[in-house]
Amino acid sequence: MGEETDCFEREFAAAVGAGHAIAVANGTAALHLALLGLDIGQGDTVLQPALNFVAGANMTIALGAEIAFGDICSLDEPTLSPDALRSLLAGDGGALRGRPKAVVVMHYGGYPCRMAEIEAICEEHGLALIEDACHGVGGSWQSGRMMGTIGDVGCFSFYSNKNIATGEGGMVVTNRDDVAEKVRSLRSHGMTSLTWDRHKGHAATYDVVGHGFNYRIDEIRAAIGRAQLAKLERNNSRRRELTTLYWERLAPLADLGWTLPFKSAYACSLAPANAGRPLPSCHLLPVVAPDRDTRWRCSDALKQVGIQTSLHYPFIPAFSAFGDRTASQDDSALATSRLFCTCVMTLPLFPTMTDEQLGAVCEALLVASGS
Ligand SMILES: *Cc1c(COP(=O)(O)O)cnc(C)c1O
Repeated sequence: MGEETDCFEREFAAAVGAGHAIAVANGTAALHLALLGLDIGQGDTVLQPALNFVAGANMTIALGAEIAFGDICSLDEPTLSPDALRSLLAGDGGALRGRPKAVVVMHYGGYPCRMAEIEAICEEHGLALIEDACHGVGGSWQSGRMMGTIGDVGCFSFYSNKNIATGEGGMVVTNRDDVAEKVRSLRSHGMTSLTWDRHKGHAATYDVVGHGFNYRIDEIRAAIGRAQLAKLERNNSRRRELTTLYWERLAPLADLGWTLPFKSAYACSLAPANAGRPLPSCHLLPVVAPDRDTRWRCSDALKQVGIQTSLHYPFIPAFSAFGDRTASQDDSALATSRLFCTCVMTLPLFPTMTDEQLGAVCEALLVASGS
């Protein structure tokens, strides 16, 4: 880490409107450091959505803390449900083991969670709020409040398939000085001075004041990150255009029992003219089939004509390593997440995608689905 990293952090902090930005090796490291920065450990429970990439859940367990999974609002709005949080906190379903300490929200697909309600719940129960904003870079919840800057800490990933891609890479953002200081220190072994400081002659040796990690980013990735950040707004607006086109072309699916998540809430607000409304980063284009068979029949049909689809995500509590941990949790409490994970498929979406390519994907899906 040297000047490129310093610049990347400063530019990123300015772009999202955060007091501190700390560049790290990847998004999982960002989540690990965020949890550590908030002193989460044994005896604590972290409430989080069952619909997520496994990183946040794995990092919770790495710290010896417990997980309580909450359901999503609906197939149409697959982000953590405030009602589910309230019922977890009330002790319903026996999912809460250990003292509740924090909530991790994930802005699925780059669409903001119900942050007003979730903030209020956190405030009422004295919980820290972490945003897994790996899908949400460059998107906002309210004007002037970007995803990742709403809670105590926000985490971003710059993995190859994210809206900013550096190969591997990540960022922690926070407005809290105490958390920033801790995250900065733990990123590099709790050392009081780093190679760059010593190179500049500022320090000859160092102390170790905490038990940290090597979660550093390097200059090459930081430089790529700066170049990517400069293109973010343009790339995200193309993603919004493509999303709008997808929603128009795929409208016939609704008559066959499919769901196009977020369409009803956002179809009219993706245009830049709607400044002041939430502006998603349109990371994913999920479609939800009426059942499992249709979902896999359609993804196979698309594969046959050379179109890759993906699954965001398999249901975390069904993973072998999570079975025991969620055994006490009432199954029906996560029914909507389970159904979503069974029937969701994500379609190609990338800033250099042409309207013709999008047309070909839609045609193949409409044919396969029988509409
Ligand atoms: C990509 C991603 C992560 C993990 O980021 P890595 O950089 O791959 O470690 C965590 N959460 C979500 C929602 C992600 O999409």
